[in-house]
Amino acid sequence: MVQTHTHRSGGAADISAADISPSDGASSLVRRMLDAGLLAPTGVLGLYGRSGAYQDVADGIGMMVRRWGASLGARRLHLPPVLARATFAHTNYLESFPDLMGSVHVFTGGDAEHKQLLRRVESGGDWPALLEPAEVVLASAACHGVYPLCTGTLPEEGLTFDVQSSCFRHEPSAQAARMQSFVMHEIVHVGTAQSAWDHREEGLARGIRMLEALGLSMQAVPASDPFFGRVGSVLAAGQLEEQLKIEGVTPIPGTDGVTAIMSANCHRDHFGVPFSIRTAGGDVAHSACVAFGVDRIVVALLAVHGFEPERWPFYVRAQLGLAGTEG
Ligand code: 5GP
Ligand code: ZN
Repeated sequence: MVQTHTHRSGGAADISAADISPSDGASSLVRRMLDAGLLAPTGVLGLYGRSGAYQDVADGIGMMVRRWGASLGARRLHLPPVLARATFAHTNYLESFPDLMGSVHVFTGGDAEHKQLLRRVESGGDWPALLEPAEVVLASAACHGVYPLCTGTLPEEGLTFDVQSSCFRHEPSAQAARMQSFVMHEIVHVGTAQSAWDHREEGLARGIRMLEALGLSMQAVPASDPFFGRVGSVLAAGQLEEQLKIEGVTPIPGTDGVTAIMSANCHRDHFGVPFSIRTAGGDVAHSACVAFGVDRIVVALLAVHGFEPERWPFYVRAQLGLAGTEG
């Protein structure tokens, strides 16, 4: 079983997030990570604090992706975990993945509305109903914040970004590799149909090599996004048929099947059209992204090499910039 969004079996979906705490409902891998202090529970499935040791590994992965971005002359961007609602509206995400998104709502009233809000809280009533949608939503993918920066005409060689942000997807799960809040680090290219396709192809190969160099056993598998509903299954079939999404999957010891820890995606003109991006030649721009699920990579490394990064093979620590930090 490939653990992508398309395959949600495995027990987690049967467990209600409301009546479970991660420490008793979690998969054995999550429970072991909680016991080892690598993750800190929050009371919500798939939402964790990270220990220093965990974060050091995540930072090491970030460094590896940044080296790659630098070699391409990519513009580095660290985006906030929220995205402008106007940008979100252009991504079509609500049409395709309404079940995964998260919206931010805020209090905009005066004293009278504040009193009403507090009364509603005290009576255990529906106080969120008194809030208003903010001008932001939670980011679903790091690359979404890049496209509004490309509106207009691209330079001849297109634009390449090294972009990361915390992302949110509402998928409460007891599985270690499915978090609601996780870091995504992407190398994104916006250019011609050919340069976008080439970026996807070269990025896939390079990303897989990068993860293999960390001692992970990788395989490239055509995949589809978890498009919502009946129309969604048609979209997913088309995406699969055209091989627009390829995932880099790896077995994570302690979990079933294999897990997608990266994906390489060609979007065609999906973002070029709504964000009015044109190539130097005047065509609608195409885009492609290579996305690393930083948390899934950390979880995979911990499961494969053990819970003590200071005892990992030297070549792995060296790649992550961790060699020489111990003792
Ligand atoms: P995609 O846009 O392909 O769905 O996501 C890009 C990458 O983000 C995935 O390959 C995966 O590594 C990571 N990712 C997606 N969903 C989750 C999730 O629920 N939890 C974690 N930890 N990572 C995820
Ligand atoms: Zn992306």
